[in-house]
Amino acid sequence: MIDTHCHLNFNAFKNDYDEVIKKALDAGVNKIINVGTSIETSLRAVELAKEYENLYAIVGIHPHHADKVEGDWIKDIEKLAREEKVVAIGEVGIDYFSYKSNGIVDPKLQKEIFVKQIELSIRLKLPLQIHGRHASDDIIQILTEYRTSFQTPPGMFHCLAGNIDYLKRILGFGFYVGFDGNITYEGLAPGEDTKLSELVEYAPLDRIVVETDAPYLTPKPHRGSRNEPSYAIITASSIAKIKGVSFDEVDKVTTANAKAIFRI
Ligand SMILES: [Zn+2]
Ligand SMILES: [Zn+2]
Repeated sequence: MIDTHCHLNFNAFKNDYDEVIKKALDAGVNKIINVGTSIETSLRAVELAKEYENLYAIVGIHPHHADKVEGDWIKDIEKLAREEKVVAIGEVGIDYFSYKSNGIVDPKLQKEIFVKQIELSIRLKLPLQIHGRHASDDIIQILTEYRTSFQTPPGMFHCLAGNIDYLKRILGFGFYVGFDGNITYEGLAPGEDTKLSELVEYAPLDRIVVETDAPYLTPKPHRGSRNEPSYAIITASSIAKIKGVSFDEVDKVTTANAKAIFRI
């Protein structure tokens, strides 16, 4: 099993990341991809990948930080992206959900930062790991402009949410889709009209990857405590249940999918 998106590079794991990594390996999660959201956390993801054989890194500026970059930030991301074991550009995208801590970053700025990083991924021949929330139309519009230049496969949408039509378009571009512990939650997330379990049901298994987004989105029954990569097993079990296939099948297919996207 591969956790295709988590943040052991965040402060939440500062004191015990070594134990958390060992726990994940023991649980059968044998590769972990840490994702940057800023220059600092991207650098930390690269450092962790150097320290541990089973860890990889994705580097990029998250849409929440689109208003915080300065100077030659894209050069800094490019430098990090050229490091060994960096397997994609991410998490990049557009997010129009109004967060208590962050509000909504100026949409024009978000698009600008997203586009610059798409162009970087094309230049470096790396796949994309996309973060999108309540921004389906703008994301689709931008990707449509660049679709002929993408890698094969072009990458993945992490923590997919939205409706079936959006999912169809994402799959049509060739992207894979990642699901997290929140597929175990009841009901709908704020502002959504389609249950995550319906998206899991619709997406073909050969286009799904497992992720945790740890420390966030902790699956039941651990909801309320910090998430960690070993819980990818719980998400995979939940996918198996929704799709009516065995856990082993989900493990095998999603691992092969992640290997195809990230060439690891
Ligand atoms: Zn995200
Ligand atoms: Zn994340």
